Amino acid sequence: MSVIADKVSKVYGQQMALDQVSFNIDQGEVAALLGPNGAGKSTMMKIIACYLPQSSGNVRVCNYDVAHSPLDVKQNVGYLPEHNPLYLDMYVKEYLYFVAGLYGLGNRGKERVEEMIELTGLTAEYKKTIGALSRGYRQRVGLAQALIHDPRVLILDEPTSGLDPNQLVEIRQLIKEIGKEKTVILSTHIMQEVEAVCNRVIIISQGRIMADAPTGEVRLLNKASGVVWAEFDKAVDLEKIKKIDGIMDVVKESATGYRIFTRSTRDIRPDIFQFAVQNKLVLLSIEQKQKSLEEVFRQMTL
Ligand code: ADP
Ligand code: MG
Repeated sequence: MSVIADKVSKVYGQQMALDQVSFNIDQGEVAALLGPNGAGKSTMMKIIACYLPQSSGNVRVCNYDVAHSPLDVKQNVGYLPEHNPLYLDMYVKEYLYFVAGLYGLGNRGKERVEEMIELTGLTAEYKKTIGALSRGYRQRVGLAQALIHDPRVLILDEPTSGLDPNQLVEIRQLIKEIGKEKTVILSTHIMQEVEAVCNRVIIISQGRIMADAPTGEVRLLNKASGVVWAEFDKAVDLEKIKKIDGIMDVVKESATGYRIFTRSTRDIRPDIFQFAVQNKLVLLSIEQKQKSLEEVFRQMTL
């Protein structure tokens, strides 16, 4: 596991910004924290990047605990904050040298700066001051500084907000490219962004996790009218379940557990029960998932 959050809560004064948030992100995943403004995304990211202590719970990054080994965590994490705080008067290269210095890269610094300029597509712009760059290029500088110490985990807080459509496509492409080598967690409030870049989505609202699933499944959820979770005594042919009237799609969740997406709002549990009987299966558990998840999702895709 690359990043493990275990029952993380954060309270600002009276306000609960995160409420028992747990997730595990594997090495090599590109995961999204998807949620509306105020959901707690930035707070969670600051905690992972060791910029803010949690009120309770634990976070581990590459096996280092953020509370006990912040320096080790910082070596393993690259962080692009929400409002990318760049020194506008500095030249791109000068700034990257400065950051390399902060990480104590020594002789390797120069090489890394050159590599990052190349990787993030800054070659034509690196002689300018940061203040003279477009927002898209400033984000590239932000990515370059986040990557300079070759961290294993990259935390990108709303990396595409405020970009024009062309820049948006380019930065997403760049993040996807980087995601081939690194674990990436990015925050966004746009589902299309998740679909374009991430293979995993964690939906967060009012400090709580509402859903955590592969991107394709959340897309299904968005289209479906309802979700039923069913467990049988043995594995079932997915194609067979899909033939039940009113079912849109089925995803295998465990050896004998299935998440069933329905087309209509009609309760299809009796149909699934019938299906089990006809196929000599024992239905161990069946549960209609609450609608709230779907509603949260709708809000987000408005
Ligand atoms: P998001 O990034 O999803 O928009 P944030 O993590 O920034 O959400 O904020 C979560 C909640 O915590 C919000 O209600 C916000 O107003 C509150 N909050 C964030 N930072 C602070 C702070 N420094 N002091 C008090 N409240 C804060
Ligand atoms: Mg935020």
